[in-house]
Amino acid sequence: MVKNPILLIFDIDGTLADSGGVTRIALERAAMELYGVERTTKGIAAWGQTDLNIFQLMVANNNLPIEDLQQEFDRFSKLYVTHLEEILFQSDRPRLHNGVRALIERLITEPDICIALGTGNIELTARMKLRRHNFDHHFPVGGFGSDSSDRATLLKMGLEKARRHYDQPFPVGSYWVIGDTPNDITSGKRIAAETVAVCTGTYKRVDLIPHRPTAILTDLTDSDYFLALVRRQVEPSDGQAMLFVEASGEESDPL
Ligand SMILES: [Mg+2]
Repeated sequence: MVKNPILLIFDIDGTLADSGGVTRIALERAAMELYGVERTTKGIAAWGQTDLNIFQLMVANNNLPIEDLQQEFDRFSKLYVTHLEEILFQSDRPRLHNGVRALIERLITEPDICIALGTGNIELTARMKLRRHNFDHHFPVGGFGSDSSDRATLLKMGLEKARRHYDQPFPVGSYWVIGDTPNDITSGKRIAAETVAVCTGTYKRVDLIPHRPTAILTDLTDSDYFLALVRRQVEPSDGQAMLFVEASGEESDPL
């Protein structure tokens, strides 16, 4: 048994991968099919949100005639999953972020590192987005948008599932949430996680600093540094001073 194992809980969109806009297309196709309304995600900033929250906004913004939101979401998400699968695997736009494959493939060989997912995607689409890159088998467990519409709650559920799966207590200080949005940071803090913010989503370093993650990384390309960080072999001096190179500033849509 390894002493003091570390749990790393990764967000997907904007952190590990970028779906290149196909998520939005799938959501809109499902809504068009069910309600006959076009461009239902217009104006919705999906970053850091759970799938149910995004659906709730689609309903509200387009005055969709819904009585029971959860029940309707279940009906909607079946269609959404079907469309997403079709587009995701046809399109060449979805991609993993730079360094992600090498980092994860290294992490799984480190005996003191355990990995999990913490994402607002429902589990089906989360796994699909990683399977698109032949990547989902690295993540045996996670918290998903299908566990809760509240990000902190789904992270907590992911943490609990990881504790059971890896049969480790993962005390406070040993688990980290890695994400690209203020909501990853604030929700991570709500479960007392250490947090790493990455600048590969839509938020720039300057947007993430006020939320005071444990550290901010431009991206996940430096696996030596990343490992030293989560093993506490380097010290983030005041929460964000470690870093670093300014993000490229290129904006992307995580959907
Ligand atoms: Mg994200």
